[in-house]
Amino acid sequence: MKNNQLRNLPAVDEVLAFSGVEELITNYPRPVVVTAIRDTLEDLRKSILEAKNIQDENVDISPEAIALRVSHRCEEVLRPRLRRVINATGVVVHTNLGRSILAKSALQALMEVARGYSNLEYNLESGERGSRHDHIRDIIIRLTGAEDAMVVNNNAAAVLLALSAIAKDKEVVVSRGQLVEIGGSFRIPDVMRQSGASLVEVGATNKTHLEDYRKAISENTGMLLKVHSSNFKIVGFTSEVSISSLVSLGQEYGVPVMDDLGSGMLVDLAEYGSIDEPTVHESINAGAQIVTFSGDKLLGGPQAGIMVGARKYISMCRTHPLARAVRVDKFTLAALEATLRIYLDPQGCLQQIPTLNMITQDVDSLMPKAKRLAEQLTKVVGKRYYIEVVTETSKAGGGALPLLEIPTAAVAVMSEDSGINELESRLRAHTPPIIARIKEERLILDVRTIAEDEFGEIVSALNA
Ligand SMILES: *Cc1c(COP(=O)(O)O)cnc(C)c1O
Repeated sequence: MKNNQLRNLPAVDEVLAFSGVEELITNYPRPVVVTAIRDTLEDLRKSILEAKNIQDENVDISPEAIALRVSHRCEEVLRPRLRRVINATGVVVHTNLGRSILAKSALQALMEVARGYSNLEYNLESGERGSRHDHIRDIIIRLTGAEDAMVVNNNAAAVLLALSAIAKDKEVVVSRGQLVEIGGSFRIPDVMRQSGASLVEVGATNKTHLEDYRKAISENTGMLLKVHSSNFKIVGFTSEVSISSLVSLGQEYGVPVMDDLGSGMLVDLAEYGSIDEPTVHESINAGAQIVTFSGDKLLGGPQAGIMVGARKYISMCRTHPLARAVRVDKFTLAALEATLRIYLDPQGCLQQIPTLNMITQDVDSLMPKAKRLAEQLTKVVGKRYYIEVVTETSKAGGGALPLLEIPTAAVAVMSEDSGINELESRLRAHTPPIIARIKEERLILDVRTIAEDEFGEIVSALNA
């Protein structure tokens, strides 16, 4: 039986002439189809050889079955791996789902620069070589009050560059409570080692006092560093030294102070449900010599690391050899400049920057949206699922506001026959994939992070 089947497997050329496969050649590049045929035949050969009983041996090698397998393989090869997904988790700055989504004007700017040549490093006035950093220095200075600014690939790079340029072979004093790990691949002590600076830990995990820093300062001290605790919070009996006290201490000893804000905010959102992330302005006003923050966390722009502060130190960073290795690309610059431009109007930014818009919605404004989604779902799949509008809580995400639970409106989906886990994985396998969470046997679709124009896709995914 096995030998018979193996002998009956067609050759690649024969498969190319099968109806169904012939048409694939018009839709897919020929080498892709040929490889798909080879791989398919190899798979079939293996299945036949490995068959352990009559049932397994009954491998379908009809032209139709082979053509179908080849077609699936072609689809798989050409389907983009990095794809848009629908974020139904309610986590606004979801690091695994790409953090911030861009404002419309940022998308336009990105397209414009991608489509044609640009003045990336060309000075249009003088007709000579220019610097990529010039394009957004002025707007960052205007928005933060800093003396100087530069942008690099991400905030991890900003911290690495600043430590390398300013504190190499010197000691950097940090509070023990701020030796954070972010996302498993960014640890302050590790970054410090890479930069050639040595770490001097002061204080206890929960409390660090100004005197702790003072005692640690020596002639080898190159920097006092404050790191925003981002993704955790120490609660109970705690005390931290404020950035302005650190700056005074630094001035006393002639040592620069760096504030790694992590997310960083350009506007104060304290009035919106206790969103009390520190603003960049506060650090600059307090006199920090270097402040670093991400472009794609609460700022709501593309992945980037923004460094602002005193001219002397920013300039040391700009001219350091590592600056080239961590330099920002033109697409990021275009999208970031457009995003920052929105901040010139503090009211407009809550409307136009998706991250800020989503994070500041209260449950009352989300409730009608949840009702609309529930209505559409009930209309189409109300017989198969039990659909209900519920109040839930969303998270900010992205290593910001770890304890904040934002009241939100969501649609809960319950299923009687098929399990809820199966439904969740079916939505994940849909095109576009829909990422939702399960809570108490119910699938929760948090409308905070779902765009209204994605409702249709959610309905058809549940209907599939
Ligand atoms: C997120 C974060 C970083 C890393 O920023 P990326 O932009 O992800 O590189 C560094 N420091 C702090 C405090 C952070 O929260």
